[in-house]
Amino acid sequence: MDMSGKSLLSRRHFCLCCIGGAASAVTGWLTPREVFAEARGIVSLIKDSAATAQIKTHRLRNDISVLEGSGGNIAVLTGSDGKVLIDAGIAVSRPQLTKALDGLGNEPITHLVNTHWHFDHADGNEWVHSAGAKIIAHENTQKHLSGIQRVEDWDYNFLPSPSAALPSEVFAREHQLKLDGATIDLKYHGPAHTDGDISATFAEANVLHVGDIYWNGIYPFIDYSTGGSINGTIAACDACLAMAGNDTIIIPGHGQPVSNKAEMKDYRDMLAAIRDNVAKLKGQGKSRDETVAAKPTAAFDAKWGQFLIDPGFFTRLVYEGV
Ligand SMILES: [Zn+2]
Repeated sequence: MDMSGKSLLSRRHFCLCCIGGAASAVTGWLTPREVFAEARGIVSLIKDSAATAQIKTHRLRNDISVLEGSGGNIAVLTGSDGKVLIDAGIAVSRPQLTKALDGLGNEPITHLVNTHWHFDHADGNEWVHSAGAKIIAHENTQKHLSGIQRVEDWDYNFLPSPSAALPSEVFAREHQLKLDGATIDLKYHGPAHTDGDISATFAEANVLHVGDIYWNGIYPFIDYSTGGSINGTIAACDACLAMAGNDTIIIPGHGQPVSNKAEMKDYRDMLAAIRDNVAKLKGQGKSRDETVAAKPTAAFDAKWGQFLIDPGFFTRLVYEGV
């Protein structure tokens, strides 16, 4: 992925409430949709990357695979009830994803679970639904997909999803699916990376998809605009780790897609150590920029700081929540 978009994260002081009135009616040169489109940045860069990215298939066990390369890692269960997808990736990857899915068997896609509302996990909802899938998610995921949703730290306003892309079955705490001979337990762990993150456990196979609660080997994004926080993320990690055993295959939302409890525990401990470092600096009265300059992530950057969320960006995200 092209990392040069970092500078595009800077604010444009773009005000949602002005769009309908001042921007389009008064100046007359931008429609609301164009005003939204003008706020290009990291989201557009990620979508452009997904349009050409190759999809890599990782076969796990009990007819479960992971598809890597279109936004978040996508789990696929195959069987006589049809394909069950955990997350849908980015819509522009449809040709490559279709090819990868066809490689797993001839059955149609019948069910799609969204781990949360973010575009790199739910942008493909519309085409996956059109292919025959019922969409299932936490109730807050449906809420965020239904309306205009701004993500401050991406400097981006998402338009409401079309009705075909919305989850038709939602839940608040937990939900169980019995499909393809497998038991799939969906569980909400409270606000974490957003306020709608769920994990999906394939019980018999001992495979656990934890969505963006866990980024394997890289600093995570935390979406404060829709209820995420550093402390919520750590608490959700603890809840997921408590459900996992040493033989559990853990699928993270991002990063190398086949992981395990020991690696997720390292991630959880990294989050907690940086949270403590940043809280100490903030408690001493340091501003956000002074805290970034103090490099509270320094001991972790070589391992975790090599992706889109760089040390400075991650420090700012943690600072917001301590
Ligand atoms: Zn996310």
